Amino acid sequence: MNQIVANLLQVKSRITKACINSGRNPGEVQLLLATKTVSAENIKLALQSGGFLIGENKVQELKQKSAFLKDIPHQNHFIGHLQTNKIKDILKYNVSCIQSLDRIELAEKLHQRLIFEQKKMDVFVQVNTSFEESKFGINPKDTLEFVKRVSEFDSLHIKGLMTIGVFDAEAEKVRDCFRLLKNSQQEIISQNIPNVEVNDLSMGMSGDLEAAIEEGSTLVRVGTAVFGQRMYPDSYYWNENRNK
Ligand SMILES: *Cc1c(COP(=O)(O)O)cnc(C)c1O
Repeated sequence: MNQIVANLLQVKSRITKACINSGRNPGEVQLLLATKTVSAENIKLALQSGGFLIGENKVQELKQKSAFLKDIPHQNHFIGHLQTNKIKDILKYNVSCIQSLDRIELAEKLHQRLIFEQKKMDVFVQVNTSFEESKFGINPKDTLEFVKRVSEFDSLHIKGLMTIGVFDAEAEKVRDCFRLLKNSQQEIISQNIPNVEVNDLSMGMSGDLEAAIEEGSTLVRVGTAVFGQRMYPDSYYWNENRNK
C-alpha cells in the first residue's frame, strides 16, 4: 500500500480510538489534511483514499494546486495567516471557511469584499492559547470582545475557534491550551450573540490530536502524520512577518 494511504488509515484509527477513550462519537471529529508543501498529486491520492477536507496556509499554494484538484470532490479551508491584499484571490478558489481570522482589520476588509461579491463566508477565530509571540491569534482574554465585533459583519458566520497548541514535551502544557480554547467557547456560547455559533473547536495536529480530542476538539488538522516530514520549519508559515 502507498505510504500516504497507509498513514491516512492510521490517523483515522487514532482519531477513532481517541474518541472512544473519551466517550465520544467518532463522527463528531472531522479530519482536515494540512497540505502545505504537499504536491497536488499526493493531495489527490489522499482525497481519493478517504480524505475530504484540506487546508492550505498560503494563497500561492492554493492557487497552484486548485486546477489539478478541481474535479476531485473535496472541501477547502484556509488555515494560514491571511494578508488583506490576498482576500480577492482567496475568494476565487472555493475556500468555504477561513479558520485563521486573527485581527479586526482582516474581518472588516473580508466583509467589504464579500458584500461586493454578494457572498458569505464561514470563519473560525484563531486564538493564541500558548501566548507565544511567534504565533498569530487573539489573546484568550480578548476573544469574547473580538467575536462580538466580528458578529456585526453579517457576511461572516462565526462557526468556531481555532488554536495551535504549544510545542512542549510536557503534555499538560498543550492540554492547557486546548482547555483555554474550550473555556473561550463556553464563555461565548453563554452570551447568546446573534450571528454567532461557535460549535466547532479546531485543535489538535499530528503530535497532539489525542489530547485535543479528549479536551473537546471537533476538527483536527493533520499534515506530517499523513504526508511525512516537511522541508521547511513551521515558523516559515507561522511568523513570516515577525522575523523581519
Ligand atoms: C502545518 C499545520 C498543521 C499540521 O501540522 P502537523 O504537525 O504537520 O500535523 C495544523 N495547523 C496549522 C495551522 C498548520 O499550519
